Amino acid sequence: MTLETDPQAGAAVKAADRAHVFHSWSAQDLIDPLAVAGAQGSYFWDYDGNRYLDFTSGLVYTNIGYQHPKVVAAIQEQAAKLTTFAPAFAIEARSEAARLIAERTPGDLDKIFFTNAGADAVEHAVRMARVHTGRTKVLSAYRSYHGGTQQAVNLTGDPRRWASDSAAAGVVHFWAPFLYRTRFYAETEEQETARALEHLETTIVFEGPATIAALILETIPGTAGIMVPPPGYLPGVRELCDKYGIVLILDEVMAGFGRTGEWFAADLFGVVPDLMTFAKGVNSGYVPLGGVAISGAIAETFAKRPYPGGLTYSGHPLACAAAVATIGVMAEEGVVENAKRLGADVVGPALRELAERHPSVGEVRGTGMFWALELVRNKETREPLVPYNAAGEANAPMAAFAAAAKKNGLWPFVNMNRTHVVPPCNVTEEELKEGFAALDAALSVADEHT
Ligand code: PMP
Repeated sequence: MTLETDPQAGAAVKAADRAHVFHSWSAQDLIDPLAVAGAQGSYFWDYDGNRYLDFTSGLVYTNIGYQHPKVVAAIQEQAAKLTTFAPAFAIEARSEAARLIAERTPGDLDKIFFTNAGADAVEHAVRMARVHTGRTKVLSAYRSYHGGTQQAVNLTGDPRRWASDSAAAGVVHFWAPFLYRTRFYAETEEQETARALEHLETTIVFEGPATIAALILETIPGTAGIMVPPPGYLPGVRELCDKYGIVLILDEVMAGFGRTGEWFAADLFGVVPDLMTFAKGVNSGYVPLGGVAISGAIAETFAKRPYPGGLTYSGHPLACAAAVATIGVMAEEGVVENAKRLGADVVGPALRELAERHPSVGEVRGTGMFWALELVRNKETREPLVPYNAAGEANAPMAAFAAAAKKNGLWPFVNMNRTHVVPPCNVTEEELKEGFAALDAALSVADEHT
């Protein structure tokens, strides 16, 4: 594919960005954002004619790739018909999106509260749980990410919480099982599961069950490292929540809508939460949208008393029209099945084969189109390739790995000492193979630091 180049236009975009755009989570003078000219399917390109295969799906959200013509057309049609309308009205795109989502969410999660994104979905889920139970505390796992707003970042269990922690109200963190790195519980999955549940129950008892409104968990933690929990863990958490009257919130902002090879990751474990948050894949992020799927019992709490919360753009027609079209594309084109099949038959085997050949790959884990590689200095000791939360020079080996991937036409997802393989869920086998060849070359650069 030959791309048109326009370095001058790229330079102008970059100059305005550097002058005026304040970027998330960044030291503004130490970043160098790529000026992107366009994107299609699993690829995007810059103004200099460099094309990249996107193994990040944006921020793990373009589950059907960029610029899907059916979704673009649906947004255009909705814009022509009714671009916006206030949340208190019944609007076709909004009610249809809610119906399609409720049809796919597990159990009796049949009412949908729409938000603008994932973080505010978490905020509202917590508020619903607090009003429903009359309790205030929320339990949340370390090695988690729940969003950048105040409550959501306090619930987060990774370093992004640190700078905002002084405002944490009633948040208690606990350790969920993760055999590769935090084996302070046990050696085997079964023991680890039993002891992690014992630890969680002890935490609940000592915090005081009558003070705990909710327990929030990413069904499969995403940004923190795609740690697929052992099979018995989430059912055990569900039992503990039932025993102590605690609302179980599963955060599926990243894991939902096909990412794991199921519509929702909860389906992998046969667990039905009381509240489930979603965003990202619901409409592939074409227009910002998130939400909370609500159980019958919690919906009942707000049947005759008002829900104390709302958002100006709740259920925005453009975002909802994009969701209706995206869910339609996913169903018609077998996108969830594609993620499941290629995940099991192509991605898993290819990544394991890379792990065998490369001394820098300590562990491969994942499912569907949701995979992580742990990069290490030493496979035996599992010492990470870079220290936890490393920056600058200390992070040089991961920076070198990322640069090598990009040189080979692959845009990698890099977080701490990990690279995540999270391409669009409708990626093709050929695209995956192209990506693995580039990953192979980039891992050889990582190997130099082992
Ligand atoms: N929860 C999870 C599990 C997420 O991965 C994210 C975003 N990465 C969020 C919440 C926050 O979503 P948003 O950035 O859309 O607010």
